[in-house]
Amino acid sequence: MQSAMQTRSKLPDVGTTIFTVIGQLAAQHNALNLSQGAPNFMPDAALVEDVAQAMRDGHNQYAPMAGIGALREALAHKVETLYGARYDAASEVTVMASASEGLYSTISALVHPGDEVIYFEPSFDSYAPIVRLQGAQPVPIKLSLPDFRVNWDEVSAAITPKTRMIIVNTPHNPTATVFSEHDIERLKAVTRNTNILILSDEVYEHVVFDGAKHHSMACHQELAERSVVVSSFGKSYHVTGWRVGYCLAPAALMDEIRKVHQFMVFSADTPMQVAFATALAQPASYLGLSAFYQKKRDLFAHALRESRFELLPSEGSFFMLARFRGFSDESDSDFVLRLIRDAQVATIPLSAFYTDGTDSGLIRLSFSKDDATLLEGARRLCSI
Ligand code: GLN
Repeated sequence: MQSAMQTRSKLPDVGTTIFTVIGQLAAQHNALNLSQGAPNFMPDAALVEDVAQAMRDGHNQYAPMAGIGALREALAHKVETLYGARYDAASEVTVMASASEGLYSTISALVHPGDEVIYFEPSFDSYAPIVRLQGAQPVPIKLSLPDFRVNWDEVSAAITPKTRMIIVNTPHNPTATVFSEHDIERLKAVTRNTNILILSDEVYEHVVFDGAKHHSMACHQELAERSVVVSSFGKSYHVTGWRVGYCLAPAALMDEIRKVHQFMVFSADTPMQVAFATALAQPASYLGLSAFYQKKRDLFAHALRESRFELLPSEGSFFMLARFRGFSDESDSDFVLRLIRDAQVATIPLSAFYTDGTDSGLIRLSFSKDDATLLEGARRLCSI
C-alpha cells in the first residue's frame, strides 16, 4: 500500500531479527535448519493432551493478570526446592507471555531514560534494543576470548553512578558458557552496596552439562534481593511456540513489572498455564533435560569430528560454537550464506550477536533437533 506518512524510527539501525532472516533463507534453499534454538521434535504427548483437556474443560478465557494461582504456587515450590529461595506466589511470581515478554516488561518497568545497562556481548539480540526503547544507554562488555568469560575488572570499570542494571545470562546464548562460583562471587562484589539491579536470563537453567551446577540468582540471597529472574517453559518443555515464561522478583520490583505486563499482554495463555501446573508436579519433566541434551551435544560433536570445524566447548544451552577461520577467510555472514546455498544447512553467524558486528570466524549451531537431523546436518557440514 502506498503511504505518504513519514516514520521517524525509534530503532533506525535495527533490521529484522537474525532468526527470522536465516529461517527464511533456510526455507528458500530447502536447507536443514540448525540456526534457531527451537526443537524440531514433539513435546510430551501428555502435555499436549493436558492443554487440549484444559480447553475442553473451559479454560479458554483470560487468566489472572499475574498467572493462574496453581501455576504460581507450583513455580514457587519448584524454585524453593531447587534453589532455596522462597518467593511469595501471590506477589513475587508472574507468568509471562514468553521469557521475551518477561525481559521486555522488566527492562521497561525498571530502567529510566538516561540510565545505563551493562550486558555482555555476544548476546541474545533483544537486550540492547529494549534498553534503547526506554531512552537508556546499553553498555556492552565483550566476553573475553578464547573461552568467552566475563572480565569482571572490566565490569567494575564500566560501572558509573548511572548504572541501573546488569543483564546476565547463564547458561549463555550464544556461547554455551555457564557461570561458575567465581562469576557469582564477582557479581556479588561488583553490585554490593549499590542500587544496581540484576536481570538474569535463565531460560536454559535445566540444560547444563557434565555435572555442572546452574547458578540461579535465586541460589544466592544477596543476589536474589536485587534480581529479576526470567525463565521459560518453552525451552524446558520443547514448546517454544506456546510463548509462556515467568519472572521471579522481590515484591517491590514485581509490583512495577506487573504494571507493564498488565498493559502489554494482560495475561499469558490460559490452557497452557493449566497444563504446566500439572507438568511441574512431576520434577522428572525438567530434571532429565540436561542428560537429554548432553546426549544430543555429544552425538552431534562426534558426527562432526571429521569436519574441518574447530568446535568450542558447550557447557550448557542448546548451542555450540564452531570455528571455520582455520580453513576460510570469508566473513562469518558470507560463510553462513555459502553454507545455506552449497551445503544446505542453516546456522547463525556469531557477528549477529554483537552490536559492532565483531567477526571471530565463528558460527552458532543449534543441537535442539532430532537425532536424524543432527546426523544429516553434521554430514552436510563435513562436506565443507
Ligand atoms: N532463543 C532462540 C535462539 O536464540 C530463538 C529466539 C527467536 O527466534 N526469537 O535461537
